[in-house]
Amino acid sequence: MLNQEKIKAINRQIEIFNSDPDRLPEDKIPVNIEEKIRKENIELEKYCFDLNENILGEIKKENGKYKINIQARDHYYRKRFTMGHELAHFILHKELIGDGVDDGKVENKLYRTMFRKNDKITSKEEVEANRYSAKLLIPNELANFIHESFFRDIKKADSLDIDINFLEFLSKKFQVSTAVVSFRIKNLIKQS
Ligand SMILES: [Zn+2]
Repeated sequence: MLNQEKIKAINRQIEIFNSDPDRLPEDKIPVNIEEKIRKENIELEKYCFDLNENILGEIKKENGKYKINIQARDHYYRKRFTMGHELAHFILHKELIGDGVDDGKVENKLYRTMFRKNDKITSKEEVEANRYSAKLLIPNELANFIHESFFRDIKKADSLDIDINFLEFLSKKFQVSTAVVSFRIKNLIKQS
């Protein structure tokens, strides 16, 4: 059973975060990643049936305009992380994207390009894009709160077994997969 105090504490923190008058509507939880993409003037296809089933998403440039295509078959939460990942390539790696880059899935890895059309995007850029996406969907203020409140005394991240009910609760709050929640918490433990 998930501790009611934990739920209350996180709900309260999200309420405080969302009620900040300086916060843009799209940055409130759950983050409106689609709006953030549209604001960059990027075209977005959330149900792209043309992508090979091993491709999670791609960003490409056509006639001078960027477009993000997302794997139609994926769960909505998975799609949100892919959207954040492709947006990260646009924001962080615009010089390297060229005509485009696609992102494939590899077992036990959140991300790795298998059918890469673009040699300039290396695993370094992929890690950057994953981190960026995770931070976009679970912002630092809230991730730090969760870390400080519930994982402060934990030192070893790799062997950590996080309560599945807790992961599922956070997954629904932020609308990301439990894998992304776990990835974010473990990275914070490693950095602390
Ligand atoms: Zn990528």
